[in-house]
Formats: sequence, structure tokens, C-alpha cells
Amino acid sequence: MKKLKVLVALLCFMWIFPGLGQAAADIKIVLDGSQLSLPSGVKAENINSKVMIPIRVVSEKLGYSVGWEQKTKTVTIKQDQTVIKMVAGKKTATVNGSTVNLDAAPIIKNGTTLVPIRFVGETMGLQVSWNNQTKTVYLNSNSGSGGSEIPPAGGNGNDSNLIQVNGISFTDSKLMIATSGGAAPTAFKMSAPDRIVVDIPNAEFSSLFADTQALDITKSIAGQIVVDGYEGVEKVRYALFSNDPSTVRVVIDLSYAMNYKMTSSNAGLITVTLDTDSGTTTPPTTKKKTVVIDAGHGDQDPGAIGVTGKYEKNFTLTMALKIEQLLKKEPGINVITTRDDDTFLTLSERVKVANNAKADVFLSIHANAGPASATGSETYYNRSNSKSLANTVHKYMVQAAGLRDRGVKTGNFAVIRDTTMPAILLEVGFLSNKNDEAALFNTTFQNRVAEGVVKGIKEYLGM
Ligand SMILES: [Zn+2]
Repeated sequence: MKKLKVLVALLCFMWIFPGLGQAAADIKIVLDGSQLSLPSGVKAENINSKVMIPIRVVSEKLGYSVGWEQKTKTVTIKQDQTVIKMVAGKKTATVNGSTVNLDAAPIIKNGTTLVPIRFVGETMGLQVSWNNQTKTVYLNSNSGSGGSEIPPAGGNGNDSNLIQVNGISFTDSKLMIATSGGAAPTAFKMSAPDRIVVDIPNAEFSSLFADTQALDITKSIAGQIVVDGYEGVEKVRYALFSNDPSTVRVVIDLSYAMNYKMTSSNAGLITVTLDTDSGTTTPPTTKKKTVVIDAGHGDQDPGAIGVTGKYEKNFTLTMALKIEQLLKKEPGINVITTRDDDTFLTLSERVKVANNAKADVFLSIHANAGPASATGSETYYNRSNSKSLANTVHKYMVQAAGLRDRGVKTGNFAVIRDTTMPAILLEVGFLSNKNDEAALFNTTFQNRVAEGVVKGIKEYLGM
């Protein structure tokens, strides 16, 4: 009953908005200039704005070999070297074994299997266009003629000499723009934010495009494809960028700079392939950096004991957790702590955490002990690749702590010696000094120092 209601609603809709006074006109298919006469009872259909044709038309009228396996509901369409496999209800298909996404899944209707004509046609090398006024699909196999066959003679919606953009898709690392041919696209990179721009001069979106892909024509003629699951690519936007001359612009929004290659086939397919290895020339700056925060001591090892009896292990843990919380807010940073409670790890275990994680930064937190008069903050590094990290973080730590600046020093501590990445050890203040000890256990002081340390890490990582 539900289906019937939808059908009735659809029919009403078609009566209310008849195309050029004809009610619910049958969809016509024109192949190389001649209209195909469809077998009686066989119809192309417009389903959710996608033109679908029965597989019988594909075999009898387009001349491709078509196979149907009832058990798996799989359609196989072959021509020359091209094999398309589609499954009823599934929006992915394979072309010569490679998976591609469909904007319309094949469907079974009244015992007949219908397939999206644009996908089948374009995959088999046809130019496909759609005239929405006359409800006609034009298929053109004559790709060598520069697309002069489209639009066909005899008034229609596309009476301009503009190149027709029929479809845009992004799969794997490729942007594909199907046009009616003869385009002279230009591509260039832009930064902040990083993107690749493709301009197709003397072009417009075809009616077929508007019928099959998102195209907002109320404000500006534009739309977008959200790209999911391809690292470094956020979305693809397209628009009629200029009216004079009519230019279609397609933009790939990137999360970091990438190189690309563009090719344009005689048949009108423009392909922009992203260079996934271009990290060698333009490093992906947004690749997450791993920071390991090591709270010194723990459990049976209290570390230094303050003048009023406070433990270093508690100070280091509190600071590590505060720094961890701040770093977790940074989208470009992945933070790891060696311990987040009162447990003990050996020095080599701490080193292993950082080395195994292939960390970019290792930072160990401590508090000092010495003569009662000793006061202030100092930072240690061991290997020369850690000096710049030491200087950067120390600068912000001293500023935030407000204690005496005891400078950046080299030290032979295992955690900064045996780690492989830039590694530093902070002695924030002296627990043996009454004034320092009070500061080290003051929440405001701790928050300030945590923020300072994070500023230093971010500056060092270029964030
Ligand atoms: Zn310590």
C-alpha cells in the first residue's frame, strides 16, 4: 500500500509539473544521433533523479554483452576490454576488478533490473548528457570529433557552444571530471588553506549534472562532495566560477599541501591524480606529532622529599596530567604518558614507551633537591638533537614559573640519553627550598607552568 501511495504521489507530481506541457513524458535515449526504439513495455526511468535503464536495453540496444546471476543479483556488462559488475541494491561496483562508487545502485523493479545509464555509458567510453526539458539522454560514441555531436541539432536546453561538465567524482586519489570534450583545463595550487584548483574555461554544468549531482542553483551554481576516508583530502567543491567567460571551477580542499598530475583525455575525461608521496617535497605538516610526558618517580620511589614532607612523585604526576590534558586539546598532537597514577616504572621502561611510540618529543618532569638556599628552574638535555627543544621549552617554563632561571644544561640521565627522539628533563624548582616547595604545590603555579610547557612544545613542533 505504501508503495502505491508513493507511486500515486509521484504521478500527481508529474501532472502538476509537466515538462513542456507533456505529462510524464517517457525518457528518450538517443545514441549517436538516432533515437532508440525501446521494446514494448520497456522503459527508462527517472529514479531519484538518476536515469536508469533496463539491462535488456543495454544488451539489445547498446550492444554490450549482459549477464545476470539471480542468486547474487549480480549484473555483468562487458564490452571489449571493459567488464562492469554491479549488484542490485549496492552502491559499489567493480570495473575490471577495481571498486568504484555509484551514485545510484541498480534496482530490481517489476522483475526487471535497472542500471544507471550514465555510469554504464561513461564507463564504456560514451559521452553522456541529459536534456531535462525533453527528458532525453544523449549517448555519443564519437569521441574523436571534439564533442561536436553534443548537443545534437534541433533546439534543446544546451544551445550554447560551451563544454558540458557532466559529472565530478573523487575516488582513491583521483578527481575525475567528465566533460563533453575539448576542454583546456588549468590547475594550480593555493595555500592557507591548502587546495588544488582546476579551472575549465568555456564550460558549464550540463542538465545531466544538475539531475545527478548536488548543485545548488538558488544562490550560486555550486555544490560539493564530502570526501571520506582519504587522508589529506577534506572535500571537493565545484561552482560556476565565472560567467564571462563561463568557467567551471573545481577545488580539492586538502589538509596539507600535495602535488598532483592532471591529464585530459580526448573523450573529455579530466583526471587530477594526487601525489600521495609528495610528502618528500611538501611534508604533510598536519601529520600528528606524538609527545610522551614522563612523570618522574612513583610508588615506592618518592623522589625528592620537600622541606615540609611533600613528595616529588606527587608533584611530577600532577604536572604530567595537567600537561596531558592541555595537549589533548591540540588536534595535531597525540599525547602519551608513561604513568598516570602512583605506579613505578624503571628508567628503561620509560625509555621504551617513547621509543616504541616513535615519539617526536619526550619530556620528563622532576623537582630538584639541594641546599636550602638553592632555588629556580633548569632544563637538561643529553643529545645534540634535543638542544633546541630544551631551549624552547625552558624559555616558557621559566617565564611561567617566575623562579630563578638556572639555564639549560647537559645531563647524563638515562631517560634523555637512551631515548631516540629529542628528549628533555625539567627540574621545575627545588623541593628543598621552602619558597619553591610552596610554589610547586600551588595549583595556580602548576597550571601556569603546564601552559608554559605546552606553549614551548607547540612552538618547537611548529604549531
Ligand atoms: Zn626527580
